Amino acid sequence: MAGKSEMPLRYLKGVGERRAEQFARLEIATLGDLIEFYPRGYEDWTSIVSIQEAPFDRPCCIKAVALGEPVAHHVRKGLTLYKFSVSDGSSIMRVTIFNNKYAAAKIKAGKEYLFFGQVGGNFTSREMASPLIEQPESGQRIRPIYRQTEGLNTRYIEICVSRALEAIDKELDYDPLPAEMRQKYGLCTRRFAIENIHFPQNSNAISIARKRLVFEELLILQLGLLKIKSRSRSANTVLIAEDYTEDFICLLPFRLTEAQSRALSECIGDMRGKHPMNRLVQGDVGSGKTAVAAGAAYTVIKNGYQAALMAPTEILAEQHAASLSALLGKGGARIGLLTASLTAAQRRKILAALSSGEIDLAVGTHALLSEGVEFHRLGLVITDEQHRFGVAQRAKLAAKGANPHILVMSATPIPRSLALIIYGDLDISILDQLPPGRTPVATYAIGSDKRERAFNYIKKHIAEGRQAYIVCPLVENGEESDLASATEYMKKLSEGPFSGYKLGLLHGRMKSSEKEKVMSMFVKNEISVLVSTTVIEVGVDVPNAAIMVIENAERFGLAQLHQLRGRVGRGRHKSTCILISDAQNEEAVTRLKVLCSTNDGFKIADEDLKLRGPGDFFGNRQHGLPDLKIADLKTDMSILRTAQAAARKVLASDPDLKLPQHSGLSKKVADLFEKVGEQGLN
Ligand code: ADP
Ligand code: MG
Repeated sequence: MAGKSEMPLRYLKGVGERRAEQFARLEIATLGDLIEFYPRGYEDWTSIVSIQEAPFDRPCCIKAVALGEPVAHHVRKGLTLYKFSVSDGSSIMRVTIFNNKYAAAKIKAGKEYLFFGQVGGNFTSREMASPLIEQPESGQRIRPIYRQTEGLNTRYIEICVSRALEAIDKELDYDPLPAEMRQKYGLCTRRFAIENIHFPQNSNAISIARKRLVFEELLILQLGLLKIKSRSRSANTVLIAEDYTEDFICLLPFRLTEAQSRALSECIGDMRGKHPMNRLVQGDVGSGKTAVAAGAAYTVIKNGYQAALMAPTEILAEQHAASLSALLGKGGARIGLLTASLTAAQRRKILAALSSGEIDLAVGTHALLSEGVEFHRLGLVITDEQHRFGVAQRAKLAAKGANPHILVMSATPIPRSLALIIYGDLDISILDQLPPGRTPVATYAIGSDKRERAFNYIKKHIAEGRQAYIVCPLVENGEESDLASATEYMKKLSEGPFSGYKLGLLHGRMKSSEKEKVMSMFVKNEISVLVSTTVIEVGVDVPNAAIMVIENAERFGLAQLHQLRGRVGRGRHKSTCILISDAQNEEAVTRLKVLCSTNDGFKIADEDLKLRGPGDFFGNRQHGLPDLKIADLKTDMSILRTAQAAARKVLASDPDLKLPQHSGLSKKVADLFEKVGEQGLN
């Protein structure tokens, strides 16, 4: 419903251009955004404690009379303290206000106030520094605490929220959840939820409001994902008459693992079934997902259709194109590479060949999505390392064919509980087995004082013919400085410990042709040590590289470290990963320990979930799904299950969300996916 919620924030009294910019930093542009900016906590001014019994370990609210007016103490230039004492009959407390003449002037001797803050001092003499102060008549309530940003404090946000609520008051009666559904799942109305999440009547009201908002958020998400999946109920128009798995196996230089065979036959089974395939192949790094994709593509091609494989980086696309040409070319398949760095002439040629059907398998980056890319008979769309792609992009590639089969490969193992949501739209095959002959990567965490020993270890292995990766220190502020630090680090290595060695540098800002050159030199062992930023994180496969050193290992998340480590241990050589870190904090130390103790991606994912919560798995950057505004998957799994069941029910009765009672849901689902689409690739 278009209305006041869509009005820009400037509409609010007191919000000018500067304020609007500050709000924009919190991703709040409209009144509607603001009322969906939920508090991150509350101050409970309703439970008053006595000074005597005030806890020392958390903020509390004290109601007391000022014994005198605040006295100013000029401590030094720019620092004035205003001190006074208060009493609540049980005890006396000293209060200090910092630099706030205005607040101090409002305190009158003999009058009663509410003081909210952390009590300090000791049992005989209590004090409170810079408390929040309110009048007892109006102040005794539960107040929201908002995430702040420079210039916008929680109090100011609170005022704006209350003005926004007034402005859109009428629209609060408009509830996207049908009354029947609210009743069935015991949910309050939207008005109650929104009003009480910001300005709760009591603490019980907060949980009632929250439950409803969490449910709504997860319901919308599930509806969106299931709608994509419901595509699979449409008829299969890319019918695979014949299974070419036997032929494919003959092309392979190795035997498929059981897990690979199972996944491949699940794919072929899907494609020969009544509905188009929508399948995720989830497998740890090195589990051989590419072979599964190649097998599926081969059967599709042999049945007269084209296939497309989309990879997140050019390096990876190039590597896939090369290895798939070598493999499937023997079977007569024609492979073409499409990336953004082709020349106009090359691009024209590829596009023509794609639309005439002279290319059977198009391998590329998101360049495959661009306009002008047309297929003759697209039957299968494969996305590699899909956590890099948004749901919307997957849909966009699929739209280039008439309901093609979809195969998604992901190397980020995800705990089952989360896979349920993140891949709500896909059937799942799991590769839980590595090809034979792999030894786990031995992993060690060392301090930077032992760096030299790590480098000597590399040198020893280079002497034996092996190669190594060194992952540069990670810089926090963006690509520019990333580039500078990678270059500088490289210089240090080549002038210092590795002078005389063949080093190569790989970073995200290089032109694709430069990257390709470095990579192909590394593949040919013309480079012994590849110094790299995290661009090597995904997919790159050089079996002779057996050692990896990661600088500043504490800066990376567990999943990312596991991905990086997956670049070694891919051949028959014993492989080692050395994590350099001087971090002392417990979380970082635990993270590195986990990595040293196991090579199992699913275990690591579970640990990651425990350590850091689901944000990392769930954030848009990883999965192309939007950030959650209120739901917290650590605590809200049961609401998630209910919401998922509710979503199924809604779609069973109204697959296109066309019924009038679903119009609100329908709009919210559309909004959600529009947002996801805009955010695109990271
Ligand atoms: P990922 O699942 O990480 O994408 P890849 O598909 O890149 O893994 O495979 C990793 C390596 O293992 C490749 O060099 C590939 O040729 C090899 N490989 C894949 N399957 C097998 C197998 N069944 N037996 C032996 N080697 C295999
Ligand atoms: Mg791969």
